[in-house]
Amino acid sequence: MALSEFSLIQQYFSSLGNAPGVVLGVGDDCAVLTVPEGEQLVATVDTLVSGVHFPVDASAGDIAHRALRVNLSDIAAMGAKPCWFTLALTLPEARESWLHEFSLALADDASMFGCALVGGDTTAGPLSISIQMVGTVPAGKALTRGGAQAGDSIYVTGSLGEGAAALCLFDESGESVAIDNDDARECLLQRFYRPEPRLQYGLKLRELSSAALDISDGLIADLGHIADSSGLGADVELNRLPIAPWLAALVEPPRVLAWALSGGDDYELCFTVPEENLPAVELLIKRGELSASCIGKMSEQHGVRCIDNNGQLVETSTTGYQHF
Ligand code: ADP
Ligand code: MG
Repeated sequence: MALSEFSLIQQYFSSLGNAPGVVLGVGDDCAVLTVPEGEQLVATVDTLVSGVHFPVDASAGDIAHRALRVNLSDIAAMGAKPCWFTLALTLPEARESWLHEFSLALADDASMFGCALVGGDTTAGPLSISIQMVGTVPAGKALTRGGAQAGDSIYVTGSLGEGAAALCLFDESGESVAIDNDDARECLLQRFYRPEPRLQYGLKLRELSSAALDISDGLIADLGHIADSSGLGADVELNRLPIAPWLAALVEPPRVLAWALSGGDDYELCFTVPEENLPAVELLIKRGELSASCIGKMSEQHGVRCIDNNGQLVETSTTGYQHF
């Protein structure tokens, strides 16, 4: 089967372009997009390389879900709404079954999260997927890393540690823990390939939160970015970290803690809340409209500190995931 570049694009990627604002999608030199009145654009890109960011035997559908969702997570962290994306696809070969599965999974998620594929690039080479996502936010309202104040409460959405635990499933060195509980394995694979972009939370928090980001490199490292950008430090109470009981049951406590603090890949939001907005945030949580836990406070003293049940400082690795 020889599929020309043009027919490949036409067949698999030209019909995912339905969304408001698309004047011209796939097929021309550039897409033409209308930005709603009073809105600003937010733009992000993430590259996934086979064997680095996902196992070489990952399915095409799984790769598509992860590639789109890690970008949506960045959009969520800005309190923005996803609109349009482009796809740079580098493929070792144009295999129809792979392309079919990949484009179907991409179309599913694009329609679920309300964004359209409006262009891209297709080349031959080692498997790599770059998605650039563009979203909109009312002018001046983007939720950045730099707005926290000393005394603001620190929250995280959902639960932590599962992204890092999932990486154990792919480690063939034998150095990681073995996870042989089938239900747990399934949950972790879901978590890795289909992280839940917290878009609805981001929109709700836009008016309530002083700073936010998504946790991709580990809580301590990422919270460190909020602290640095805001010219502050942070105190985290370890006993308040949201760790799913089923995850805690898998391995000994220090390892779970390391997963939650510095493992990365959770794609939850970490955000800070000024005291005057605490009642509104707690109400959202009580009503079930926001899944989030308060884990500590921002402080004047620089650095991220972890505190145990007795109020004692605990030494933890603060490096997070380093790409180089
Ligand atoms: P150009 O050479 O002008 O950059 P291409 O021949 O690379 O254009 O692509 C033709 C059209 O197909 C462009 O509109 C481009 O955005 C789109 N396109 C190429 N690859 C992809 C892809 N993987 N997904 C979506 N659109 C793509
Ligand atoms: Mg051109």
